[in-house]
Amino acid sequence: MKPLLILINPWIYDFAAYDLWSKPLGLLYVAAVLRNCGFQTHLIDCLDTHHPLMTGDPSIKTPKRRLYGTGKYWRKEIPKPAPLRDISRSYSVYGISRKIFEKELKSNQRPAAILVTSLMTYWYPGAVEAIALAREHHPGVPVILGGIYARLCNKHARKHSGADSVATVSDPGSFLETLERHGIEAPEPLPNPYPLPYPAFDLIKKIEYVCLLTSTGCPFRCPYCASHFLNPEMNRRDPAEVLGEILYWHKDFGVRDFAFYDDALLISSDTHLGVLLEDLERLRLGLRFHTPNALHVREVTADMATLMRRSGFRTIRLGLETSDFALHRNLGNKVAEGDFERAVGNLLRAGFTRNEIGAYILIGLPGQSMDSVIATIDFVDSLGATPYLSEYSPIPCTPLWEKAVSYSRYDLSEPLFHNNILLPCWRGAQIAEVPRLKKHVLKIRDKNR
Ligand code: SF4
Repeated sequence: MKPLLILINPWIYDFAAYDLWSKPLGLLYVAAVLRNCGFQTHLIDCLDTHHPLMTGDPSIKTPKRRLYGTGKYWRKEIPKPAPLRDISRSYSVYGISRKIFEKELKSNQRPAAILVTSLMTYWYPGAVEAIALAREHHPGVPVILGGIYARLCNKHARKHSGADSVATVSDPGSFLETLERHGIEAPEPLPNPYPLPYPAFDLIKKIEYVCLLTSTGCPFRCPYCASHFLNPEMNRRDPAEVLGEILYWHKDFGVRDFAFYDDALLISSDTHLGVLLEDLERLRLGLRFHTPNALHVREVTADMATLMRRSGFRTIRLGLETSDFALHRNLGNKVAEGDFERAVGNLLRAGFTRNEIGAYILIGLPGQSMDSVIATIDFVDSLGATPYLSEYSPIPCTPLWEKAVSYSRYDLSEPLFHNNILLPCWRGAQIAEVPRLKKHVLKIRDKNR
């Protein structure tokens, strides 16, 4: 019998959470690679909104699903962890029940190893809980933690997660070496050359959408962002290969919605995304594409906007951050005066509606003024796009980290305080204004719907 690996996407512990095309893409790549090397894989997705055992219980309210595969998660209110006890908001665990998680853990033969992923640094209690239960049910089985929290807060994760190994790199092949260190040999060697397989979305019980990566890395160095730390080099896939992947999920699994996870989707579009979109436009498959990660405003030319519209893009998010161009010089200098107006104009002329064109506005940066945020919201609205507030979360291993530590109201050595909802780098008067800001944004969003 092939050795079994259990892969776990843990719960979210937070004040709020919403499924905006959110899937554990890194874990699914790791699963695909390990499967190619002869392992059996079993995914326990704690964030599975279609888990048959959850949906079969009439006493639990089914989470509302919305457009294009987005929607709410299962949710249960829980007491706040001690460091957050003074925050006057309810706190919840999002995902399947612990009972069902344990049932899934027990439903398998004894695994050779258990691999757990992690995302936001302040969601680490979910990973810690999953690891503790995995240990309880499969004592002696090595537990390996990977993902973003593991990499950004490696020391913290080694101390607090309970895992036997904590990954420092994202290369799926590196997990084979980690397994070997625990005495687990792959039944088959990694193919050489080693083409990255499609991520194992087929392990998900109901595929509402597929997340795509056409490239990794970003040529910019925005001081608040960990892209460069997580992916120091820019790598692009062949557009023909990405097209093959889209056709595979569409034809074999009926998927119509695709979310791009790239950090720099539009960079070098003449030889990259443009080529892919021309093929998709020609094929007329009725697919829908979404960009939850912000697009680079400067790259939204008239031709690109038209191509995006014709090939099926339905959700556009632009990375504006602020309309204060003096501040932009300190934020990576990605947007110059006139760029945003041009991009929105190109999108509107291409046929996108106000509602489909969203602009992310950063709030909560150290030293940022409230007036500049209000001016940015009104600037976005005046041009015919829809504002979305994006609360700054201090991220270790980024250039802004030290400044964030010195501005923060909290001790950021505790990752729970990285939570963007806390706006850790803003102070009393600014925080008090946030509900008014949110109301203002919601009013505009309602008007644009
Ligand atoms: S452009 Fe986006 S992905 Fe690139 S460094 Fe800036 S914030 Fe990060």
